[in-house]
Amino acid sequence: ELLLAIETSCDETAVSVVRGGREIVSNVIASQIQTHEQFGGVVPEIASRKHVESITLVMEQALSEAGVTFRDLSAIAVTQGPGLVGALLVGIVAAKSLAMALELPLIATHHIAGHIYANRLVHEIEYPSVALVVSGGHTELVELEREGSFRIIGQTRDDAVGEAYDKVARALQFPYPGGPHIDRLAMEALGEIELPRAWLEPDSYDFSFSGLKSAVLAVINQTRMKGGELDKGALARGFQTSVIHVLVEKAIRAVRELGAKQLLLCGGVAANKGLRAALTARCQAEGISLLVPPLSLCTDNAAMIGAAAHLKWKSGEFTSLEMKAEPGLSLEEWSVR
Ligand code: ATP
Ligand code: MG
Ligand code: FE
Repeated sequence: ELLLAIETSCDETAVSVVRGGREIVSNVIASQIQTHEQFGGVVPEIASRKHVESITLVMEQALSEAGVTFRDLSAIAVTQGPGLVGALLVGIVAAKSLAMALELPLIATHHIAGHIYANRLVHEIEYPSVALVVSGGHTELVELEREGSFRIIGQTRDDAVGEAYDKVARALQFPYPGGPHIDRLAMEALGEIELPRAWLEPDSYDFSFSGLKSAVLAVINQTRMKGGELDKGALARGFQTSVIHVLVEKAIRAVRELGAKQLLLCGGVAANKGLRAALTARCQAEGISLLVPPLSLCTDNAAMIGAAAHLKWKSGEFTSLEMKAEPGLSLEEWSVR
């Protein structure tokens, strides 16, 4: 089947045509980063307006690059949540209009299920598996007992990893989104400033990054007060090392304790070079099969939405046109029947 997938949950207007849940026929992304950059973060009202401006063009481009027409489509998939309500709404209205006009089924899709199933666009997934979701708004360890079933075994109690990266980057005067800047600084750094790790309770799969973020801010303030020169590289490196240490240890423990066959890395922070390298090395040493999507499929895109929606296509779970945007949509409840 051929799905047209639409993603507008945050600051990317994205439309993709996906065949059979795994073949990307086209994948068009209009990023608003340049617009939000000047504000140091995503401004919700502006995001919605930009989605409205771009959606038609992005859709037309996705179809023309795929070399297909509306008539070739089997269903329309759209991100229902989580995300910014006004941003989600733009994609949802577009998807509903198409589904109605073309008399096609509508498939409401979960954004994080999308990030996880981005892996399906390039790899074969074996179950049970564990997904480490690291993005701008989420940090979760998810057990996938079978295809399309999601159980959250751990999550952040405060900041998401991407959020912590962006806040640290902002404190170091890098533009939004700051993750890639910190990543580059950390990889190039010669020194390293030792920072704390939040392990929480010994058996917990939860995360916490706000203490680490505060520790970074404290170093910046102390250096400033003493009038000293801040070694940004060493600070970025210390931050990144701490983040990666906790993420890797908890993910590996989850794989072991749940007897998972694979570890799936996903979300925007999966683009992090340090994290990819550390997880790759550790999984190799432990004999764990690690799946990581290519960089372009780690950050927001619509192909991943098509990949996740395919699961519901297979189970015949379609969505009513009454469907609404759900900023807090539950991943577990979105599991396939
Ligand atoms: P969510 O998926 O939770 O709704 P989102 O869609 O805004 O949030 P993504 O687009 O998946 O998040 O990821 C964006 C985040 O990834 C930003 O916080 C960005 O800084 C971070 N990021 C991107 N590349 C890197 C990198 N190389 N190192 C660290 N962080 C990165
Ligand atoms: Mg984004
Ligand atoms: Fe995302």
